[in-house]
Amino acid sequence: MIAITAAACGPGPTNTAPPSNGADSDALAALNAQIARYAPVDLKVDISGLPGNEATALAHIIRAAHVMDGIFLEQVWAGNPALLARLAADDSPEGRARLHYFLINKGPWSRLDKNESFLPAEFGVPKKPEQANYYPADATKEEVEAWIATLVGSGKSGEHSAKTQATGFFTIVRRFPPGMATGLGPFYWDRYDAAYQNELGEAASHLRKAAELTSQPTLKKFLELRAKAFLTNDYFASDIAWMELDASIEPTIGPYETYEDEWFGYKAAFEAFVTIRDDAETKRLGMFSSELQALENALPIDPAMRNPKLGALAPIRVVNVVFTAGDGNRGVQTAAFNLPNDDRVIKEKGSKRVMLKNVQEAKFEKALVPIAAVALGAADRSKVSFDAFFAHILMHELMHGLGPHQLPGDTDVRHALKDMYAAIEEAKADISGLWALQQLADRSVVSPQIAQTMYTTFLASAFRSIRFGITEAHGKGIALQLNSLLDQGAFVVNQDGTFSVVDSKIRDAVAGLTRELMTIEARGDYAGAQALLQRMVTIRPEVQRVLDKLAGVPVDIEPRFVTAKELLRR
Ligand code: ZN
Repeated sequence: MIAITAAACGPGPTNTAPPSNGADSDALAALNAQIARYAPVDLKVDISGLPGNEATALAHIIRAAHVMDGIFLEQVWAGNPALLARLAADDSPEGRARLHYFLINKGPWSRLDKNESFLPAEFGVPKKPEQANYYPADATKEEVEAWIATLVGSGKSGEHSAKTQATGFFTIVRRFPPGMATGLGPFYWDRYDAAYQNELGEAASHLRKAAELTSQPTLKKFLELRAKAFLTNDYFASDIAWMELDASIEPTIGPYETYEDEWFGYKAAFEAFVTIRDDAETKRLGMFSSELQALENALPIDPAMRNPKLGALAPIRVVNVVFTAGDGNRGVQTAAFNLPNDDRVIKEKGSKRVMLKNVQEAKFEKALVPIAAVALGAADRSKVSFDAFFAHILMHELMHGLGPHQLPGDTDVRHALKDMYAAIEEAKADISGLWALQQLADRSVVSPQIAQTMYTTFLASAFRSIRFGITEAHGKGIALQLNSLLDQGAFVVNQDGTFSVVDSKIRDAVAGLTRELMTIEARGDYAGAQALLQRMVTIRPEVQRVLDKLAGVPVDIEPRFVTAKELLRR
């Protein structure tokens, strides 16, 4: 794990406040260095093609999205709203920096620094509660677990048993006041529509206004049903409508991801992604999709492991962000997401992948290009392109659907590889994505420039990913690939410590690693997966030396929603 601490960071562009006195100015400088890891960037989207009624609808959706910020703050920690008010009232340079960083993190804990509080002791900020504000602050995980075990029901979504409610996405758990004996145990659940009644009422009314204005039927339907869901706590129909969205405006708004519930992963955090569909990339995606069976048939593995008939493709949307809020705008910015998480919807409709192109582009420019300047050899630096970067991201998503999935004996790769699965599968999608783009370039389906720049772009991108640590699946997968390609001689370390791609070796090495990972999957080879990860998931000294030099490069972006602002001013 690489801890990107404030101390390791050089002064950033926002670190310009004049020092006032000794200790305070040190604290302010440290805070400004933490903030500077997020490069401010104006997120713009061309909405000139939207007719007036759609633009006004979009403005209402943005207003509804604003509401998600407030609910999310409350979900993270009960103390957040009061703390926000206190910070906002402080006009000093320290006060402004604290507020700034609070808004980036959606709370007083620095998400890039293992959730350490960034406020001085006098604020009395506790350790970040793992249960967030979904469960009582004074409860223990064991206590809540024991209570859930006493409840009746299977816990399966779709039924309305006590257990389903208590463990559901859209309820919070609270403790009965002392002396209130109920026979139900110490806790009860409260539905989101009641817990956040005022906020959700306001959001629903904006969504309804937007629904009245738009002339796009699938958008109108989603907005109406989502407004209703906010008031009834039943999100099923609106999730289905979200899957069926086919409109220039693509909003995602509501309670979705469960990461903030670090106890059980049950409770959904409110967020919003207000986006506009990218028609050019949607076309490219269609082109890639039509090539998938041909790619599967050519996979560099034992032909018996190939799938002669790929199933239906999960829908993918490429969009540009106008505005994000809540869980969708905290700490490191989301660049793509897969929703919904509700199994009932997935069973009926599958899930949808949404890729945020302008967010990816901003990350590319603010982090990847500066990383390339440090990490790559001089000749390689010019071969870093956003086009290759984004084409690879698209292909990564598609490649998740290719290769072995089902195993003999009614099991699948996920269950066979258990805790090794996620890292192996992420590495597979990455490396086979490069393999697939090379195939398409060879057949002139994609431009030769993509094949000429994608390996160097991937190498630079590996350093960007590893900076976030190698404890979760994506980081592990990247370390595995970087080290394997170094061992194959396809990446080399130059005299000056920079890295380069070896053109004569990279193609075979990429195909070889694709074969290795897919064969592990096809065999359900848990021991093989474990051995490979144990050997390869490490940060080698030559990689660490580059990471050390990246201290001054932003880790991520802080979006400024200029298009949204302009629209709301109209
Ligand atoms: Zn993936």
